[in-house]
Amino acid sequence: MLTLSKTCSTCNEEKPGTAFHKRKDRPDGLQTSCKDCHKDRQRTWARKPDELMGEIELNPSQKREVYSGVILRMYDLGIISKKTSHEALERVLKA
Ligand SMILES: [Zn+2]
Repeated sequence: MLTLSKTCSTCNEEKPGTAFHKRKDRPDGLQTSCKDCHKDRQRTWARKPDELMGEIELNPSQKREVYSGVILRMYDLGIISKKTSHEALERVLKA
């Protein structure tokens, strides 16, 4: 099913359906933001955790807990393999 055009919810520009990423869980099968805006937003989100972590003082045991939580979550989401998560956890717990 092809949507001819769609208005991006972020930049409010009307763009062809091909300018949007596909999303199976949306009624029209497309994301609400166009590919360009999606890219910008991903970049913003990718930067945020670093900024946040810079502001928070963690003691070593809190750090281990946060990092191992992140590693397990990345494994849950399929971003890293079981082997990678295992190696990363070992590194975090030894640090
Ligand atoms: Zn847009």
